[in-house]
Amino acid sequence: MRTENHKKLVLPGPVEVRPEILDAQAEWMIGHRSAAFAELFARMQTKLRLAFKTQNRVFVQGSSGTGLWEGASRNCIRDGRKALHLIGGAFSERWADVSRLNGKEVDVIEVPWGEAHTAEMVQAALQKEQYDVVCAVHNETSTGVTHPIREIGEVVRQYEDTLFLVDTVSGFLGAELRTDDWGIDVALTSSQKAFALPPGLAFAAVSDRVLERAKQVTNRGYYFDFIEIDTLLQKNNTPSTPPVSLMFAADRQLDDVMTEGLENRWARHIQMRDITHAWAHNRGLALYAQDGYRSPTVTTLANTKGFSVDDMAKFMGGKGFSMDKGYGKIKGKTFRIAHMGDMSVSTLEEVLSGLDEFLVGDSQ
Ligand SMILES: *Cc1c(COP(=O)(O)O)cnc(C)c1O
Repeated sequence: MRTENHKKLVLPGPVEVRPEILDAQAEWMIGHRSAAFAELFARMQTKLRLAFKTQNRVFVQGSSGTGLWEGASRNCIRDGRKALHLIGGAFSERWADVSRLNGKEVDVIEVPWGEAHTAEMVQAALQKEQYDVVCAVHNETSTGVTHPIREIGEVVRQYEDTLFLVDTVSGFLGAELRTDDWGIDVALTSSQKAFALPPGLAFAAVSDRVLERAKQVTNRGYYFDFIEIDTLLQKNNTPSTPPVSLMFAADRQLDDVMTEGLENRWARHIQMRDITHAWAHNRGLALYAQDGYRSPTVTTLANTKGFSVDDMAKFMGGKGFSMDKGYGKIKGKTFRIAHMGDMSVSTLEEVLSGLDEFLVGDSQ
């Protein structure tokens, strides 16, 4: 039984989850050391590799994405070596903090919020200094910028000792991502963004180079020890008890993603982005992100009309939608329209016409 009067989530995470996916979680529990679990795990591996476009293993972890930030920084940066973090929004800033708080030395390339990093910036930094890792955020959810990961990957690949770690938390399954072709060593994500699952699972495609590196790191910690996770993964298992119900949901969702087709799913997100842009343009609302790097999964709008985002959210709540009010230091000055996950074009159009009603009312 679910509550009535549910407001559809139009948030950039957690996103609306379809009833079929919620229901998949209600399957009978199985023991994670059973043959049934090994089958579930193996089945998911096959589909996850297709989804990440990788030949490598994909970790399935009971945690949010933040846990795998910690795991990636911890397992890939050796003592006395440095990380290069590309920063340009709230999430990329926080990942750099996570590396520091795990005792790692961090250099940053910082661009103003709303702008994208370039391959040239990364090239210049790597020519000057040796880094164990370059950490980048694919889709910066606070600003609505999709960074040029393919181009940056081409640069990082020229440096044999440098691993390329990418947060694709709000990009994965919404924005184009080709893990192997783009030279990504760790591509990490969580369940509750464009994957359109309930929160609680994190995933990471992990290269052999990462495991070689992890062996050279003395203190990998316990919960996110990549060597241990990989050892169990070879047996279609996990070191500690996984959230099995969520994995049933993920298994079902991966089937549905494959039925839609990965490329079609990316195209649907681009279509929703373009509809949102056209709407914003017609309403005189400026786009916060730099032209050419605007996210297919979330649009950050500069609140050039100066309306109260609280009033907007309240109004939209009455229409049955739960809206975002901006994030981090640009909260209120911006707000975000998430168009990610399993959202349909028609739902997005309902959201935009609701916003139209609000804007008309607000200007009177
Ligand atoms: C939401 C988000 C995170 C944090 O993920 P959690 O699953 O909440 O830990 C990290 N990076 C980006 C880009 C995000 O959008």
